[in-house]
Amino acid sequence: MWHYSVKVKQIFYLTSFHDWHKEVKQNVIAYGDAMSVYELLVNILGKERVSRSQEELFLYSRDSGAQPPRSADYVVLPKTTEEVQKIVALANENKIPITPLGGGFALSALSVPNRGGIVLDMKSMDKIIEVNEENRYVLIEAGVSQGALKAYLEKNYPHLQHSTPEAPPTATVVGNVLIQGHGHISPRYGINSEMINGMEVVLPTGEVCHIGSCSVGPYWFTRGPLPDLAGLFVGWYGTTGIVTKLSLRLFPRPKFRDVFAFFTDEIDLIPDAISEITRLDLLEDFFLIMQEKPDWMNHVFFILILSGHVKEEFVLKVDIYKKLLREFKGSGKIEYVENLHPALRKRFLDVPPLAALAADFRKGGGFQYTGAILPIHAIPKAWKKGIEIAHKYGMMCSYVHQILPGPSIMFGFNYSFNRADEQDIKNTRNALEESNRLTLELGGMVWKGELPAQKLMMERMDQSTLNLLTRIKKLLDPNGIMNPGNWDPTS
Ligand SMILES: Cc1cc2nc3c(=O)[nH]c(=O)nc-3n(C[C@H](O)[C@H](O)[C@H](O)COP(=O)(O)OP(=O)(O)OC[C@H]3O[C@@H](n4cnc5c(N)ncnc54)[C@H](O)[C@@H]3O)c2cc1C
Repeated sequence: MWHYSVKVKQIFYLTSFHDWHKEVKQNVIAYGDAMSVYELLVNILGKERVSRSQEELFLYSRDSGAQPPRSADYVVLPKTTEEVQKIVALANENKIPITPLGGGFALSALSVPNRGGIVLDMKSMDKIIEVNEENRYVLIEAGVSQGALKAYLEKNYPHLQHSTPEAPPTATVVGNVLIQGHGHISPRYGINSEMINGMEVVLPTGEVCHIGSCSVGPYWFTRGPLPDLAGLFVGWYGTTGIVTKLSLRLFPRPKFRDVFAFFTDEIDLIPDAISEITRLDLLEDFFLIMQEKPDWMNHVFFILILSGHVKEEFVLKVDIYKKLLREFKGSGKIEYVENLHPALRKRFLDVPPLAALAADFRKGGGFQYTGAILPIHAIPKAWKKGIEIAHKYGMMCSYVHQILPGPSIMFGFNYSFNRADEQDIKNTRNALEESNRLTLELGGMVWKGELPAQKLMMERMDQSTLNLLTRIKKLLDPNGIMNPGNWDPTS
């Protein structure tokens, strides 16, 4: 357990702050020097939304990945931006670390605190504020989950959809966007952080900023043309501010969809096949899968999702792709799966596609993957080496990779492990480290990397870029309270 000395008489130094500022100051002074951090947090949120109970802290000190547990001291559940501001102001004044938490499903312990302090669980900020049909965006609070948004759109706006990742439905939309995740329409429309139209952000000092068109007018319909400040918060793992609201692009939901599967055993053919398939830019989703067991899955499967808003469009796309794959130069080695089993067809057509459902080989509930963002030409080497790494640590190889625009690929080196088995966990950490190193050797980047992976990336980063990163962080978070340890070259 970490302890913080609380300077109760807070000095609020930014005169442009709102009325809440005065209110916190008065409250804090009124309660006198004897107040603990816990009491101050209760003063802001009430008892039912602050916890320091060991049982609850236990849950917040770990995730289902392979990283070691790290303890939290307090968990809070704010419901409004003002409450987030007050908590951040309190933490900043007293130099208490804050770790923002969405669903906690990044798997690389990005929302498990490194230095104790407050876990800011955003799940109670769960309002879907507005759907703007004409401009096709949804404005949500930071705790809205993937499942809640999907269900809401299906019920109220069945002609609209958002880009849904294959993550558990309780993962948040904001958490996914902030780690540059990808969803079921990303091959067509871009990764999910490109779908941000605007954001409301509480800075580490407690100020509230707006990013995008909402900073100059009432509509949250676009990010530019303005200096693109979203980059100060996207990809930073909650180390530069807390996003409280997000405007996300929506897309028309197609009426016709189907899945087409092809397979090959020629790993060296994969880059050319991907280039050929993505040349036409007509796919909704495109992923590759392989699993060593059951035997029928031990091939390179190309899964293509085609869709259309009108029948003619859909039929045309299907014809084009069937022809294209027949004529592909390696076609003798790529086979079309004529009769895909209905259960599999459903699984691939579901949104999210649930391609990784069978990943719990070790029956222990542990799962983590190196999400390698790789150039297409690196795939054969990554594929073969990935199998070697899995075998070296006594694991079964299992791949789910999504093709992203470019084209590039999110190449998932998947590791399932038994959480009750220390050796299994150790093997997984070693396998992760090897696949992270391999990713960088192949000219790629590790997506949503755990602390050791971040360190590897920073060691490779050119010095001036690293200096810039450090300067931006210091400017935004002068007291170093925001999710400390992440993207920190000194840690
Ligand atoms: C089986 C499985 C399949 C998956 N498939 C996919 C997939 O297809 N595509 C994909 O993109 N991901 C996938 N994931 C990874 C992950 O689950 C998702 O990216 C998920 O959406 C992350 O959201 P979260 O709410 O869990 O984020 P968290 O893990 O809670 O947070 C991620 C990071 O963002 C920070 N953060 C969270 N909320 C805020 C906020 N409001 N303000 C500032 N910082 C914040 C956290 O501190 C942390 O650093 C998968 C995971 C699993 C287990």
